[in-house]
Amino acid sequence: MPAQDPPIGTIRTVCGDRPAADFAAVMVHEHLLYDITPPGAVPDDTQITPQNRWQIDYLSNQTPANARQQDVGIAASELTAFCADGGDLIVDQSVGGLARDPTGLQAASLASGCAVVAAAGTYTAAYLDPETQAADTDTLAARFTAEITTGLDGTTVRAGLIGEIGCSWPLQPCESRALIAAAMAAQRTGAGISVHPGRDPRAPFEIVDILGQAGADLTRVVICHMDRTYPEPDETGPMALARLGVMVEWDFFGVESSYYWMDPDVELPTDRGRLRAFRALIDAGLRDRILVSHDICTRTRARHWGGHGYGHVLRNIVPLMRRMGFAPGDIAHLIRLNPLRLLAMPQAAIHPEFPR
Ligand SMILES: [Zn+2]
Repeated sequence: MPAQDPPIGTIRTVCGDRPAADFAAVMVHEHLLYDITPPGAVPDDTQITPQNRWQIDYLSNQTPANARQQDVGIAASELTAFCADGGDLIVDQSVGGLARDPTGLQAASLASGCAVVAAAGTYTAAYLDPETQAADTDTLAARFTAEITTGLDGTTVRAGLIGEIGCSWPLQPCESRALIAAAMAAQRTGAGISVHPGRDPRAPFEIVDILGQAGADLTRVVICHMDRTYPEPDETGPMALARLGVMVEWDFFGVESSYYWMDPDVELPTDRGRLRAFRALIDAGLRDRILVSHDICTRTRARHWGGHGYGHVLRNIVPLMRRMGFAPGDIAHLIRLNPLRLLAMPQAAIHPEFPR
């Protein structure tokens, strides 16, 4: 394995700060406790059974009951299974608007022994209350900063990442303000930024522009959901984005369907197709810009309901990477070094007395 810099800095977990070097295998974009029911959907109580789970999973946005998971015990057992697959850190990117549950995450982390990072920030406009939609940039920046330095939603559980900041297409004014606020909070705290872009190939470039102009350190920004934003990645998509300095994230691992539930005309890549996209980036010298995750946000993708769970990448995709000729150093970047670089807060940010 080629020489690698050990990860430096501090990971702010829901159970306290820990050195980045403690962690070996990270899933950087997941949801453990969440309600992502589309605004306006009629809530339902559909029970997921072995008979109906495949169909519910296949069209996974058509059953509102599939879009929420608020049971701490189930979250803890999913984390235990993830650890059994070799994982040791999961980031729950459930931000404001997605029924974020900081104390629930803390309880699940304590029960399982698996480290968890919670998220500051806000989701897309449609999920936000009127007060948040109307909030100005300074108000949002103060809120995001406090979520990292003081605690989330009235608790003392602190966030360790800003985002996924939700963006629609076209970008809504409150989403643009949230991006600028994220850049401001990142500069104040040293936290990284994750962005859920709108579903248009132009959306990520507009977002990177806004963040760059607001002074964000683009090397600690990730643009999520390459899978559905650029189903056929080429030089003008993820490669061009990565060349701007940001990280690019494929976070639909485990979804191997020709049918994108949000847009049936979009053909999603398979896991192998995702790895082919990585190969192109690695060959272009951009392996430090790639992030990997599952973005589990439906019940049917969790082990409890017969899904692949949070350990699929470690269990199945790392061996596939080896078969496809990825070098050990490549795999170390994808699973460990890149997510830790996004998350690791410099000491200057952890100790407020440090001048900056
Ligand atoms: Zn997500």
